[in-house]
This record gives sequence, C-alpha cells and structure tokens, in this order.
Amino acid sequence: MITYQKDGLTVFQSALWQTTSTVVETKNFILVADPAWLPHEIKEIQEYVEQIRKDKELYLLFTHGDFDHIIGFNAFPGAKVIASKGMQEHPNKQYNLNLIQNFDREYYVERPYEIEFPTIDFVIEEDGQQLVLGDITITFYLSPGHTHDGLFTVIEPMGIWISGDYLSDFELPFVFDSVKAYKSTLQKAYQILDLHSVHVLIPGHGQLTKIEEVMKQRIAMSEDYLDRLIVAVTTEDLEGLNALELEMPFNSNFTKRCHKENIATVLKEYTIQGNG
Ligand SMILES: [Zn+2]
Repeated sequence: MITYQKDGLTVFQSALWQTTSTVVETKNFILVADPAWLPHEIKEIQEYVEQIRKDKELYLLFTHGDFDHIIGFNAFPGAKVIASKGMQEHPNKQYNLNLIQNFDREYYVERPYEIEFPTIDFVIEEDGQQLVLGDITITFYLSPGHTHDGLFTVIEPMGIWISGDYLSDFELPFVFDSVKAYKSTLQKAYQILDLHSVHVLIPGHGQLTKIEEVMKQRIAMSEDYLDRLIVAVTTEDLEGLNALELEMPFNSNFTKRCHKENIATVLKEYTIQGNG
C-alpha cells in the first residue's frame, strides 16, 4: 500500500511489521529499496516500477540482510544491486533464506519467483562511499549494531535518507549484532544530519518523518533506551529490565525474544561475566 508519494519519492508499507519499501524516481534511474513482503504487495511495487521505468536504469538497494528486507530479491530481474560488504559476506545466508521459506510454507504463500540471497553488484565497503548518477549523488554509511551488515543511504539533492532498521517512530532498538556498534551508528546518524541536507527520513519499519527535530528525537530515543538497558543489565536491576521489556510496543513473544537477545548482547559486551 502506498503511504507516501511526492517529488519522485514513493513509500509503500506492508501489512506485516509495518515494513517500508521505498521507490525513488529520478531523470536517469529508478531505485527500489527493500521491496517487501507479501506477493501481492511486491506485485504492487513491481507494477508501479514498470509503469514509471521506461528505459531507465533500475537499482535495487538492500539496507541489510534480514529476511523481511531481502524477500523481494528476484522480483526485479536485471536490476543492479547495492548493499554492504557485510551483506555480501553474510555468514548466515542460508539461515535467512530458511526464515523466508518457513514463513511461506507456514502460511501457504506462493511466490512467482525464486527465493535467493541477493548477489551484489555495488558493494559498499566504507563510510562516505558514493555513487554519482547524473545529477544525483548517493552517499552510503555502514550502520552496524542491529545487524553487522546495515547500510544508511542518503540521496541528494532530494535529501532522502533510507535508514533501514534504525530510527523507527515506534520500534525500540533490536540489537542482534552489537550494542557498542549500535551506539556508534547512532552517533553517525547525528553526523549525517550535520553533513547532509536531509529532507525526509524513511525507516525500515513505521512512519517516515520530514522534521529534523523529530529525526534527532528518534536518535535520542534509541540512545536513551540503550543507556538504560546497559545500566539495568550491569546493575542486575530486574525490575528495570521488566519495565524495559514492556516498553517495547506490540508486546509479544517476538518482542520478548528480542528483549532477551538485547540483554544477552549487553552481558557479552559490558560485563566480565559475559566476557569470561
Ligand atoms: Zn526489519
């Protein structure tokens, strides 16, 4: 379902996990980020792209290798794929593919294309790496923490920032990689706002924002959550930890698991017991 459309930017939102898919249309090319989730939702994106594409080059961007974000690879054959080196060298490709396959089997979902882990044409290896396409400059930053292979993408002069699984309006940090890396990625997020003129921030789940103050609030909200999590874990504040678990919106077995994993990651990185 299209939830936003203006000045060459179209954002789709899936019914599942409020996952966003972004389509950017410029004079010379079309860029599609994280096309997701259900077959009819991906079909809607495909049809839209077909309708606007004409003979323009098509780029497919993946913000990271989590299964909900790569599920639409192969729905856009011939597209040039952009993603991080971490994603190219992903150590658990098959695990992520299994998650897609299990989901599809559990819900009898049939897809008209093969499920594969993306093969990448433009590999992003370092912060500030750029892709200049005509009068459009795309700047990339590595964003580890949620996963090791995250990628921030800033498209100028349109001022579009595609942030992947960071800076949602409602989702608290899920730390599957590293709390320390997550915190430095949040510092990088502040720097991006200083270095670029960002007009719109599109997170992987939830609502976009065009207000810089709100972008900063979202960074601060993630920092605040992580800082309180670290304190609660390192002081063994069980009550505090329970409260933090309940802060996760849409409380479910899924958020329970994520909360547990967040604690385990802090233990590993911030306590001797975790290091031992
Ligand atoms: Zn996600």
